[in-house]
Amino acid sequence: MAATRPLDELIEHTPELPWLEHAACGDLELDQLDLFFVEAGRTIAASTVALCRKCPVRRECLDHAYEHEIVSGYFGGVSPGRRRVLSHAEAVAEIQRDTR
Ligand code: SF4
Repeated sequence: MAATRPLDELIEHTPELPWLEHAACGDLELDQLDLFFVEAGRTIAASTVALCRKCPVRRECLDHAYEHEIVSGYFGGVSPGRRRVLSHAEAVAEIQRDTR
């Protein structure tokens, strides 16, 4: 059986991300992270949307995606397609509306 690693070992852009300790997805193993990476044109699962919506570090996760120009994956509860068309500020406003 292949060993699995926690999420914080997956994110390659910054070796230490203190906010990951509080991530709602932080206990997932690598093979579950496919939940956040679906093929273009496919919809992310409702359970994944709900996980991000309640995540206490949603803003930090979204900021990370914008700061590092990550073009795939569902970060901060915002799809890569939405991140392409929204500025960082617009995406922040969107998740703030969505979290209320
Ligand atoms: S917002 Fe979603 S992808 Fe980001 S850390 Fe939270 S649960 Fe994980």
